[in-house]
Amino acid sequence: MLTFQRKDTKLIASKIKYCKPIPYGRQHITPEDIAQVAKALEHDYLTQGPHIQEFEEAFAQYIGSKYAVAVANGTAALHLCALALDVNEQSNVITSSITFLASANCVRYCGGHVTFADIDPNTIILDINHVRQILAASPKGTYQGIIPVDFAGYPAPMDEFRALADEYGLWIIEDSCHAPGAWFTDKNGSIQRCGNGQYADLAIFSLHPVKHIAAGEGGVITTNNQQLYERLLKLRTHGITRNPSELTENHGAWYYQMHELGYNYRLTDFQAVLGMSQLTRVEQGMQRRHEIAKRYDEAFAGTNIKTYVPTNHVSHAYHLYIVGVENRKAVYDELRAANILTQIHYIPVHTQPYYKNLATQNVYLPHAEKYYEHCLSLPMYPSLTDEEQTFVIERILEITG
Ligand SMILES: *Cc1c(COP(=O)(O)O)cnc(C)c1O
Repeated sequence: MLTFQRKDTKLIASKIKYCKPIPYGRQHITPEDIAQVAKALEHDYLTQGPHIQEFEEAFAQYIGSKYAVAVANGTAALHLCALALDVNEQSNVITSSITFLASANCVRYCGGHVTFADIDPNTIILDINHVRQILAASPKGTYQGIIPVDFAGYPAPMDEFRALADEYGLWIIEDSCHAPGAWFTDKNGSIQRCGNGQYADLAIFSLHPVKHIAAGEGGVITTNNQQLYERLLKLRTHGITRNPSELTENHGAWYYQMHELGYNYRLTDFQAVLGMSQLTRVEQGMQRRHEIAKRYDEAFAGTNIKTYVPTNHVSHAYHLYIVGVENRKAVYDELRAANILTQIHYIPVHTQPYYKNLATQNVYLPHAEKYYEHCLSLPMYPSLTDEEQTFVIERILEITG
């Protein structure tokens, strides 16, 4: 019986197959990007050149933060944030279970402990009410920080997280990897862009090819806090300072001092050039993402395919377009056979063996676990063509219908 079904599935799937794989996300590199990078390779600097700061300033301007620090990747950005906020073996930090591993791992790099909280089942964002419960259940001073995630490009309610964090004296790192350009209207009626530093102490972005701005590997930290900014600059490059006002002695123009243990987490100059070139098109990319989302929304309205956010989210960055389906594995496999490479975002982090082994008690997060059973990320990237999207929509409707 089982063999039969498998055969059957294969037969159906092999009937229609797209001529080339359609991934869930991919970079968009133009001839202009290539020309810019090629030009940069002829400059005197491959690393630590003038384009890093240029990119940082342009990025900060786009996001609306005072400062930006470009680093080697988004994970390094998270690690540096944890270091700058003095996370150590005594630290307890709360984050979402539905996120990429790195949102939690950065705490572990510094020896701290991670508590996973559940998600709001409608938005898949870290559930602030669950966070509040966790905080209220422990003596004050137990927790030091919260890491909310602007999941899939949907802005976390940072003003609410700030108010809660202030009650308990916590810092906030906003993981904005999915959400450059997304925004929400805060309680005062002001528009706040994700990662703009208005409410979070630090925010981080990734420049990985599947994210909105690609630089190969790369990451950016944004903040409005000058002290944290200056510390991050040092931590990014071995903990070294050359600032005369900080040196306890000075032997000459070559002289530098190392004041704390840092890393080499720098971005290269030609990557910054690629990031800069991409940044000039980021709004165009966002518009296209909204068009694609709208088409999916319309195609799935009234079907048994669940979408996770209301349809009129002008503030959404649409890094991912996620649906909920029954028999997810079968749908995934059939789409894969048709050359549509969907993805699962994410396996709940608290169920990973590493975190299970660390946990002192069994962690059960019902919304996260239920979401994981059904979620499926469909192709969503600016260069996805209408024809490709039509194929995706027709196939998924046929498979789930
Ligand atoms: C991509 C991503 C990261 C890590 O970024 P890298 O540049 O791949 O290290 C962290 N958090 C989230 C939510 C991400 O999507």
